Amino acid sequence: MLGLMQDWPLLCHRIIDHAAIQHGERPVVTRSVEGPIHTTNYAQIRTRALKVAQRLDRDGIKLGDRVATLAWNTWRHLECWYGILGIGAIYHTVNPRLFPEQICWIVNHAEDRMMFVDLTFLPILEKNAHGLKTIERYVVLTDAAHMPKTTLKNAVSYEEWIAEADSDFAWKSFDENTAAGMCYTSGTTGNPKGVLYSHRSNVLHAFMASLPDAKGIAARDVVLPVVPLFHANCWSLAFSTPLTGASLILPGARLDGPSIYELLDKYKVTFTAGVPTVWLALLQELEKTGGKLPYLKRIVIGGSASPRAMTQKFQDNYGVEVIHAWGMTEMSPLGSLCTMKPEYAALTGEAKLDIQMKQGHPPFGVEMKITDDSGKPLPWDGKTFGRLKVRGPAVARRYFKDDSEILDKEGFFDTGDVATMDPHGYMQITDRSKDVIKSGGEWISSIDLENLAVGHPKVAEAAVIGVQHPKWDERPLLVIVLKKDQKASKDEILAFMQGKIAKWWMPDDVAFVEEIPHTATGKILKTELRERFKDYRLPVQ
Ligand code: ADP
Repeated sequence: MLGLMQDWPLLCHRIIDHAAIQHGERPVVTRSVEGPIHTTNYAQIRTRALKVAQRLDRDGIKLGDRVATLAWNTWRHLECWYGILGIGAIYHTVNPRLFPEQICWIVNHAEDRMMFVDLTFLPILEKNAHGLKTIERYVVLTDAAHMPKTTLKNAVSYEEWIAEADSDFAWKSFDENTAAGMCYTSGTTGNPKGVLYSHRSNVLHAFMASLPDAKGIAARDVVLPVVPLFHANCWSLAFSTPLTGASLILPGARLDGPSIYELLDKYKVTFTAGVPTVWLALLQELEKTGGKLPYLKRIVIGGSASPRAMTQKFQDNYGVEVIHAWGMTEMSPLGSLCTMKPEYAALTGEAKLDIQMKQGHPPFGVEMKITDDSGKPLPWDGKTFGRLKVRGPAVARRYFKDDSEILDKEGFFDTGDVATMDPHGYMQITDRSKDVIKSGGEWISSIDLENLAVGHPKVAEAAVIGVQHPKWDERPLLVIVLKKDQKASKDEILAFMQGKIAKWWMPDDVAFVEEIPHTATGKILKTELRERFKDYRLPVQ
């Protein structure tokens, strides 16, 4: 027997409809790419998104067509997302930090028909446009006054383009399982893989993301997504913020410490989210200027592990609660958030920080297990590491144009991460399965060592890789970038780590470098580091 409730498909554009009706006046403020601060609200965003939809429809963009965006977090970019998905086409965010060849590969693979592009990226696109085979038209996200001369095919300024529509248009309706968005994983090994979100998965994921023990956003919040719209579906913020009716502050092209601080302070931001590198820059800025964060209540740190010293500084020096989070493009992307269950709620100081080093517990809608290489489940004792596998309505079941089976017999997806689960259901990433250091048959977590090393006051950034060892297969090498004008010796760094980890985890050597390579999403590029140190000889004991 079927239930007798209404059929109300979970379509993403219903989110902007709701925001426009219930929270229509709520400010959406952007630091525009052209420079000045721009202010709009959800009602206007919806009206203009309808114009985008109407205009795309007139240009012949149809259900299932892919439309690329190469753009910063701005109100126009947000309008594009809703306009594209509102006719059943697919917003495809392209990460501008990728190499031009990778951008071409991704756009061609997705067969994007149009591209919305920010002024910042015109020069690079013009140079590479011949490689973008399927794009029929470029819409430059600016107005007529700022529109430069460009060689891009059928280029038009966004404001002129939508001015040809009057918003007298209705969203299309279709099945909630229709594809809505697309994002390629960075593909640090092999070609990037396309993850295809559906309307249903995005809406369910936005509910999950907004829960009190997830991001806990409310209409009274002011949300600054530092994480770009092009990074892993913007951690749901393009959906969960309007869904809850919170105000939105968008940083545009300027993600440096002083620019982010200015927005946090001026607009009384209460909630923000981004990767550790951004927060490192913000903390340095605060330390330099003596700035404070009186309005900011919560900060979600994810994408890479949040170093202990970072969490501690935000909480103790600035009174900002850190929510450590983990996820991946394939998971829409949220997998777990480290908020406090009653079992841990009374903890303070170092004991609380110990828990906050964990990536947290999954919300309803994400199931987790850890297994050994043969697929056998491992105990949740907080110590045993295993392959982390996940299942849920916002987790990928296949990649775009790729028939490979990516789920196990029970329908779980192997995340490629290695993790422990504790008795209260908190997960802690110990490594990527490719990065874990295998020493004498035992595993050493590179992340734990990195977190510890960056706690040293002179260390700006640390990476640990396994290098070949005649007896132990692999041993850890600690690679360090010192803070500006600092000097430190290997012994000084190792002495700092001594006693805080098992003896056999101690790095065999320390290499000081000027810079550590990063991926397009700010993660340490371990493949390149391993390549650089492949002939490294560890000191013989
Ligand atoms: P990209 O490389 O494009 O950023 P993803 O966002 O999908 O791709 O990366 C997901 C991976 O990032 C995870 O599988 C995990 O290895 C790593 N990661 C994400 N959050 C954390 C975290 N809080 N701690 C440690 N690793 C993390």
